[in-house]
Amino acid sequence: MAEYRAFEHDVLVIGAGGAGLRAAIEASATGAKVGLVCKSLLGKAHTVMAEGGIAAALANVDERDNWRVHFADTMRGGQFLNNARMVEIHAQESPARVRELEAWGALFDRTEDGRILQRHFGGHRYPRLAHVGDRTGLEMIRTLQDRGIHRGIDVHMECTVVKLLKDGERVVGAFGYERERGRFVVFKANAVVLATGGIGRAYEITSNSWEYTGDGHALAYEAGAELIDMEFVQFHPTGMVWPPSVAGILVTEGVRGEGGVLRNSQGRRFMFDDIPEAYRQQTADNEEEGWRYTQGDKNARRPPELLTRDHVARCIVREIREGRGSPHGGVYLDIAWIRERLPNAAEHIRRKLPGMCHQFKELAGIDITREAMEVGPTTHYMMGGVRVDAATQMSSVLGLFAAGECGAGLHGANRLGGNSLSDLLVFGQRAGAYAAAFAREHPAGSIDDDEVEKSAHHALAAFDAALRSGAKESPYEIQSGLQKSMQELVGIVRTGAQMEQALERIAALRERASRVAVGGNREYNPGWHTALDLQSLLVVAEAITRAALERRESRGAHFREDCLAKDEALGRSNVVIWRSASGAMTLRREPVPALTAQQRDIVEEMR
Ligand SMILES: Cc1cc2nc3c(=O)[nH]c(=O)nc-3n(C[C@H](O)[C@H](O)[C@H](O)COP(=O)(O)OP(=O)(O)OC[C@H]3O[C@@H](n4cnc5c(N)ncnc54)[C@H](O)[C@@H]3O)c2cc1C
Repeated sequence: MAEYRAFEHDVLVIGAGGAGLRAAIEASATGAKVGLVCKSLLGKAHTVMAEGGIAAALANVDERDNWRVHFADTMRGGQFLNNARMVEIHAQESPARVRELEAWGALFDRTEDGRILQRHFGGHRYPRLAHVGDRTGLEMIRTLQDRGIHRGIDVHMECTVVKLLKDGERVVGAFGYERERGRFVVFKANAVVLATGGIGRAYEITSNSWEYTGDGHALAYEAGAELIDMEFVQFHPTGMVWPPSVAGILVTEGVRGEGGVLRNSQGRRFMFDDIPEAYRQQTADNEEEGWRYTQGDKNARRPPELLTRDHVARCIVREIREGRGSPHGGVYLDIAWIRERLPNAAEHIRRKLPGMCHQFKELAGIDITREAMEVGPTTHYMMGGVRVDAATQMSSVLGLFAAGECGAGLHGANRLGGNSLSDLLVFGQRAGAYAAAFAREHPAGSIDDDEVEKSAHHALAAFDAALRSGAKESPYEIQSGLQKSMQELVGIVRTGAQMEQALERIAALRERASRVAVGGNREYNPGWHTALDLQSLLVVAEAITRAALERRESRGAHFREDCLAKDEALGRSNVVIWRSASGAMTLRREPVPALTAQQRDIVEEMR
């Protein structure tokens, strides 16, 4: 029998980013005994890296803003594949969640009359992002942690969950290992909330850190839950491209919000060359108007650099492909030019974008107050994830909830910047509340010892393989092969033929992964950890590729060079993925939930 440490909680939250912390706080506030598990140390989750801000229609900077405009912006950004009820809840509840964060101690930047300051971001009609310079995520995590830590939540740090445990159709716990000692742990819980974040590590160039291997997506899928919108991977237009060791690190959209412009090697502001019809009315048609917008002129329209991320990323790719890129394969992002407009520009940039100034100085030796940055697209965010009920965040499996980036529905085909942090607060709170209610109403299930034993055996397979004779595979080589394949074949511009090839490569990598061998012992063994992460990465890579093959059109973040046009029927459908009884990955198209009459009116009114 495998040895393990056992813990019991009413609600187990897997993931300690914004969504997980907010869920844990809420569940604990109802009196539930809460466990919070995270792969790294508390405070290191991805949320801490968030820069630009939290989108909420507070209307502090522009009184014309309200939840209805936020609703319409989010639906348009997601190309109407969003779950409209989720979008509505998100737009209505995010102002209260931001104010609550402030009441809990978050120190936002301020307007002159002392209210929370809001900045412009792509796709948002009015300045909407509550922020703390370009370090908003740090303030958010700090505040949530302070709040959570006093509630008596049990935190299990440096602990990775590799399997959800079920009693019949219901999730009743989780199996994992402590990264430091390699010991196994079994969590028994009445309800489980997944808040594991994104999948960026399935790609070679990404803004995501090592933790983001799509574990929540894969855990849910293996437990029988449905995934939706997996074809929609967001490639942020501006990541660092040089030096190679830092390629992919994010350059916040806040740079463009503060007046930064994109230029090609000929010095041309190429974003004016291609403005999508749906946004033409809202977009400046000259540089002067664009500048006035960034400086708060309410009569000006947004510059084209602040169009949605999918579009900006594709325009950058076009410039690079057509030979107008920068020396290291990107384009130029220039904020230094504002010296022509502002007398104290350097100080202004340092105050508004301290993180970016530091990042470029330290990592690339560039002073962004004087020089342009070289930037290019980077894998950033996953719109697809666990399908959940809009109000409760419960997945299609009883007792299993999901919130934050590993959940899906809010963003549709493309997420607007800032809508993730508000998503974490709004749906983290709901997931915590409903998981706690579920836990109260459902007595504990039982953990199946056989399932635990099998999970332990499976987790140790890579050590066993090292002892056996025969071909052995390195987890790192498989991981790198997968990342390269996804980057090359299922990236920002895709074709059906490339993705068929990707599926073949994924199958071959999966076969090789069954022979992965690792040496050493179980104490802090990165090779072993990588071998286990591979299980998730392979599921996620296959799901992205299959969904992208099914969507024979170009829409939002999904761009097919062999199917450029939009398809009307697909424009009303989500692609749903699940694991069939035979174990095969299966998919179907399903109609997007219809808009209510009120929602339709709002969209029409804001057109
Ligand atoms: C550089 C950068 C800047 C960004 N800026 C913004 C911004 O300004 N505004 C905005 O709205 N969005 C922004 N985003 C996106 C946003 O930060 C993320 O989408 C969001 O923070 C995700 O939060 P989350 O709570 O879902 O997960 P995360 O914060 O990613 O946390 C996931 C947690 O799950 C844990 N975990 C994962 N797998 C397991 C496992 N198997 N077992 C146990 N624990 C596990 C991790 O350890 C971690 O604690 C940015 C993203 C990046 C990378």
